[in-house]
Formats: sequence, C-alpha cells, structure tokens
Amino acid sequence: MTERELDPSTIVVSAGRPDATPGAPVNPPVVLSSTYVSTGTPSSDELLYTRWDTETWHPFEQAVAELERADLPGLVFSSGMAAISAVISLVPDGGTIVVPRHAYHATLILAEELAQRHGVTVRQVDVDDTEQVATAVVGADLVWIESPTNPMLEVADLPVIIEAAHAAGALVAVDNTFATPLVQRPLEFGADVVVHSVTKYLAGHSDVVLGLALTSDSALRERLWHHRTHHGAIAGPWEVWLALRGLRTLALRVERAQENARELALRLQSHANVVEVRHPSLPGDAGHEVATRIMRGYGSVIGLRPRGGATGADALIDALKVWIPATSLGGVESTLERRRRFTSESPTVPEDFIRMSVGIEHVEDLWADLAQGLDGL
Ligand SMILES: *Cc1c(COP(=O)(O)O)cnc(C)c1O
Repeated sequence: MTERELDPSTIVVSAGRPDATPGAPVNPPVVLSSTYVSTGTPSSDELLYTRWDTETWHPFEQAVAELERADLPGLVFSSGMAAISAVISLVPDGGTIVVPRHAYHATLILAEELAQRHGVTVRQVDVDDTEQVATAVVGADLVWIESPTNPMLEVADLPVIIEAAHAAGALVAVDNTFATPLVQRPLEFGADVVVHSVTKYLAGHSDVVLGLALTSDSALRERLWHHRTHHGAIAGPWEVWLALRGLRTLALRVERAQENARELALRLQSHANVVEVRHPSLPGDAGHEVATRIMRGYGSVIGLRPRGGATGADALIDALKVWIPATSLGGVESTLERRRRFTSESPTVPEDFIRMSVGIEHVEDLWADLAQGLDGL
C-alpha cells in the first residue's frame, strides 16, 4: 500500500516537529550555542560550530523543502537578498545572466554589480513574453525568473521557459516569494533552485527578515552552503523559530488573502476613479491565462493605478485608515505603497503604480476603506 500524500495545508502544520514520543516537546527547541562539544576528526554530519550548521535551522529548512518538493533540506539565510546573492554568485566571471526587467529591484542591482565587477552580461527580458525569454536563454549560464514579478505582477510560463533554458544548457533559479509553494512549485517544473524572501508570506507577520534557497541537486546545494558559510550570511535561531511558527498558518493566510485580493481586484476594476488594476485573477489581465494553467490561485498582491497620477496615488494612500502605508508585503496586515517613491525602482513602472499587499482582515473593511479613499479623489 502506498502511503497517502499529505496535503500542503497539513504539511505546514505537521512538518519539522520532533518525533511524537512521550515527554517530547510538540515544538522544536531553540538551541542557543555558538559551538558544540567535539574531539578528534569530525564526522560529516556532526554539529561543530553554529555558522556552519545548527539544529535550530533544520525544522524550518525541512518543512519548506517538503512544501516545495525538494529532495534536500533548504538552506536558510539571513535575508532574501542573502539567499539571492548566493544563487547569483553561481554565474561565472564573464558569463551571462537573464533577468526579468521587473524583478525585485535589489536583485537587479546585484545583477548590475555582476556586470560591472565581473564582466557578466545581463540580459533583461519581459518575463511574460515567452518567445523573447526563449531567445534570450541561448548562451546564458543562469536564467533568473521571478513570477509573479514584484511589482508589475507579470506571470512567467515556467514549464516552457525552464525547458527552453535547460535545452540551452542554462541553470534556472526561480524567486517564488510572491506565489509561495502553496500556489506554485517551480522545482516540479524542473527549476534547479528556488529562493524565497521568507520575510514575506512564509513568516507572514512582518516581524522577521530571512531568506531561503532550495534545490534537489546536492552539488548545487553544496555550493550554496559554501557561500552561506564563508560569506557568513546566516540566520539567528530566534528568527528561524519565528518563521516556523508563522509557517504553521501559511495555508489559512494564503487562502484568505487570495480570496480577499480576488474580490478587491474585481471591485476596484469597476470604480470610476481607477485607471488600471492588475491582478492575474482578472479575466482581462495579461497573466490570467498562464496563471490559470500553472498556478493554484493568483496570489494576493494587486497593482493599482488610481486617477490623478502620482499625486492621486499619494492622496489615496494618505486617506486610508485600515491599510498601512509601508513597504514589504506578505504579512497578515494589508499594506500598500507607491513604488516609484524609490528612485531605484525601474522607470518602466508607472509613477502612479500602487503595490497593494492584501492581508487577512475582513474584506468589507478593506473595501470600505479603499472606497472612501477613492471616492475622495
Ligand atoms: C522582498 C523581496 C526580496 C528580498 O528579500 P529580503 O528578505 O528583503 O532580503 C526578494 N525577492 C522578492 C520577490 C521580494 O519581494
């Protein structure tokens, strides 16, 4: 008899717990020790020094690996950018990397740094234009995909792009922060590496900054481990414990936030003071067809362009009482910001573009707040 596979909504609750033996704690302990008792020639699986490895990371690294269907435990990092730095460093000097034009802005900064200091060619692509990406992957060492993208919410056709990249001999890494493993599992489409800003949905409460990289390839994992260990981008034990606690409710949070986002996107679309709404759930959205085919849901970030340009967008944000004006996303609380307030944001993101991270509040409270703000424009 084959064992029944657990649903992801059960895995988030059950993974990474100590064995259920009498007297065992239900939650894994936090171990605060920088070093371990050890003599002689160390064995390969022995804990020795906390920068190299520590048991407080393991339950979280194991739990997300189960969710992403990685054959090996993940590697937790001190931030999403630390994980991304490790993966991007796989590009050799003088090599070529393909990146989405609207990838997370700090990822684009890192790619630019590779270009300037290591002679790497950076090919920017519209990641929702599959043909364009399939052409750009030829001769690339690493194809970096983010989907949906932050902040423009373009949806990449992962199975097709990954196949094209592999046929061209390139590695593929996917930033799966916006989708979460409940909505999309890039390793199942053949991706070599998946990264997360754990800061966002996985931890989910806007109280920790953490990152994670996952792969089923042991040689790749070894290289990423080497980077984490020797560049020292390691996570503190308390933060990882908090991330695991946050992960327990991931399925409930994602389900509620996605429902809210879908309903709000629909209502926003028919408000007189709205110029444009982007959410892959909308049948007219450019990402709708691909998202429906490859994702289990549409995520809970909405792009909104209200009437009145950047001034209108700022006025709307100022008028809101339930929504919190703040950067970041993926927390239980609804937040929003006009992205171009950052000079580092891509100039192809419209000046009036508001990125809304929909939380788990009651949808009518979120809508009433938005409606009064929009009515006042
Ligand atoms: C926030 C974010 C990052 C960076 O993660 P940090 O935890 O802030 O370092 C990377 N990618 C995406 C898609 C993000 O939203």
